[in-house]
Amino acid sequence: MAEPLFRRLALVGIGLIGSSVARIARERGDIAAEIVVNARTQKSLDRVMELGIADRVELDPARAVAGADCVMLCAPVGAFAALAEAIAPVLSPGAILTDVGSTKQSVIRDVGPLVPERVHFVPAHPLAGTEHSGPDAGFTTLFQGRWALITPPPGTDEAAIAKVEELWRRCGSMTRRMEPAHHDRVLAIVSHLPHLIAFTICGTADDLEAESRQAVLNFAASGFRDFTRIAASDPVMWRDIFLNNREALLEMLARFTEDAQAMARAVRWGDAAYIEDKVERGRKIRRSLIELKQA
Ligand code: NAP
Repeated sequence: MAEPLFRRLALVGIGLIGSSVARIARERGDIAAEIVVNARTQKSLDRVMELGIADRVELDPARAVAGADCVMLCAPVGAFAALAEAIAPVLSPGAILTDVGSTKQSVIRDVGPLVPERVHFVPAHPLAGTEHSGPDAGFTTLFQGRWALITPPPGTDEAAIAKVEELWRRCGSMTRRMEPAHHDRVLAIVSHLPHLIAFTICGTADDLEAESRQAVLNFAASGFRDFTRIAASDPVMWRDIFLNNREALLEMLARFTEDAQAMARAVRWGDAAYIEDKVERGRKIRRSLIELKQA
């Protein structure tokens, strides 16, 4: 077995993502010699110990990260500023501070200025997830064959970036470096807008008068059912993502609204060719995803 990448990995937040990393690190043994976990509630920490996915748990984030050579923020992005403030004074010189947050410019804005000089800040985002949350939701194959995007600010220590890339490779991911603003625009269209649409369509269905709403639930065909799966995601996490990727999300929503209006116009005027063309483009995108093994 290869040498562990880190002596001590501290996971701040232990839901779907954090607990998947912990499970993989436990199973492989070559990611960290020791795993320390912090969460907001003692209940989650007790569960982590029951699951046996950490060596130690700490309710105080500063105690959890003290002495760690890698700290990974795995809480909702809206909590990052307060967490960074709490842990910054005790981060070890030479340590790597990384994260898994779904928005990257906001993380760099909120955490970057608080990072002590000799600590290496390497923001990252694994593109893998489910609609489930909490320490029980994680599993060891979550990141298998998925991308992990690394968005280091200019001037970040190359060795630190390489270590974070290696961590994600050992978790089963492929890695790619990306500029943070580009990341946020790409994620706005591939993830944040689809979630916004799913939450909205479920709200629309829920607003229908009682009789129609019951029929929607009884006869939900795969279209609506797929939206409800996406819409079952954690409200705090998604509130934080929307508020922290505001510009890119609003830009993509504006483009989508224009395109939806164009589709509405085609439906109204019976423009069969337009409708067919759009459906065909959808099918093409699906086929390319299957070919890229990302479906
Ligand atoms: P999750 O399952 O909801 O777990 C969140 C964890 O963060 C819990 O351990 C929670 O503690 C802790 N936490 C919540 N609020 C906190 C606060 N104010 N201070 C400290 N800790 C707090 O979340 P997740 O799905 O793993 O997502 C974690 C991060 O990964 C988010 O930033 C998200 O954007 C990103 N991400 C998510 C996905 C996805 O599909 N889920 C994919 C990629 C990246 P308690 O359990 O004690 O409440």
